[in-house]
Amino acid sequence: MSKVLVIGAGGVGSVAVHKMAMNADIFSDIALASRTLSKCDAIAESVKQRTGVTIKTAQIDADDVVATTALIKEIGPKLVVNLALPYQDLAIMDACLAAGVHYMDTANYEPRDEAHFEYSWQWAYQDKFREAGLMALLGSGFDPGVTSVFATYLKKHYFERIDTLDILDCNGGDHGQHFATNFNPEINIREVTAPARHWENGEWVTTPALSHKQSFDFEQVGPKNMYLMYHEELESLAKHFPEMKRIRFWMTFGDAYLKHLEVLQNVGMTRIDPVIYNGQEIIPLQFLKAVLPEPSTLGSTTKGKTNIGDIATGLGKDGKEKTLYIYNICDHEDAYAETGNQAVSYTTGVPAMIGAAMILTGAWSGAGVFNMEQMDPDPYMDMLNKHGLPWQVKELPGPLAF
Ligand code: NDP
Repeated sequence: MSKVLVIGAGGVGSVAVHKMAMNADIFSDIALASRTLSKCDAIAESVKQRTGVTIKTAQIDADDVVATTALIKEIGPKLVVNLALPYQDLAIMDACLAAGVHYMDTANYEPRDEAHFEYSWQWAYQDKFREAGLMALLGSGFDPGVTSVFATYLKKHYFERIDTLDILDCNGGDHGQHFATNFNPEINIREVTAPARHWENGEWVTTPALSHKQSFDFEQVGPKNMYLMYHEELESLAKHFPEMKRIRFWMTFGDAYLKHLEVLQNVGMTRIDPVIYNGQEIIPLQFLKAVLPEPSTLGSTTKGKTNIGDIATGLGKDGKEKTLYIYNICDHEDAYAETGNQAVSYTTGVPAMIGAAMILTGAWSGAGVFNMEQMDPDPYMDMLNKHGLPWQVKELPGPLAF
């Protein structure tokens, strides 16, 4: 019997809870809490209809550590899965420590007033979790998450040494809107407009946002422009794979998305500092979020596929230099048919369910704060194949030309 509490009733929370309900042998008791109770209840209704499973719901402001601790104690889960926003990470970690339960999330902590994310804040909880005999598993979404497990799997089974790693994130889906983001607009726009950074020869190289573009032909999607970006798994991969000489992250964006973003930036709508409007302080980016489509509403109109994976070059276990590409392709319409959410939520929510399953079944265990690449990739990779995110490995003729 394994009880889990999920916090956050957005697209990712919805997928994770649906997939947990489909695996009742692991998740025998599921509770969902979030800031807006009606969103939890709507998800619970859909879960009931699709799977027959009843889940508990509750209202919580997860910024409030005392209230969150009380809720965890009342529900009594073995694990809290944080699928709210990165702003809540530290408060929920504190509440897990106070209540004595394991913790997991899909995105690293980010302060509200600074578009800057790094692991230092959460890694600083290492001693507290170790001393409490509890596990905190960081970043079990797709990227971060599966992309780190992919790298670890390649290293374990194919490579003596990986020299370069490129993570390629392509969303080839079309939602039919002029401008919308596929996950929380505030978090997404903060990430995309931040300077790009990649790891090269033992140091971080910073370049202006969206200034490096390459075209890549993605299987089942076609050729797309992708842009060099900073992404949080680069930091933990550089720490846990010190052998890697270069680690980069690329994401595809269409021209229309970039044009809208440029205009919004130019007119100041992506600012995160407060401005006075009608005598009241507002944050332009938060106001923008309020007028953009909610990502969770895009599912019914989104068509196309995502293709996300890693390309690694290094010394193979057979003593030969090789380049391998490991990736998953996910169909937006299939994801919507199964859980009522589009593929970006699906490719994050399924790995969140799998990370939770690793902890609840004891396949992954330990006391302290862990990143994904510190764990044995094999049981996780098995579950990806079985639960909707099958992957494949293909050898490329040579390293990337760029
Ligand atoms: P949404 O904005 O759709 O959902 C977030 C949910 O958290 C909402 O239900 C929101 O409540 C709730 N929430 C916000 N603040 C609080 C609070 N203080 N207390 C309780 N609940 C709160 O986001 P997504 O579902 O798209 O994303 C969820 C998480 O997944 C984010 O952290 C995102 O960064 C991460 N992510 C990770 C990816 C990966 O591959 N690793 C990819 C995509 C997303 P309300 O409805 O009231 O606003």
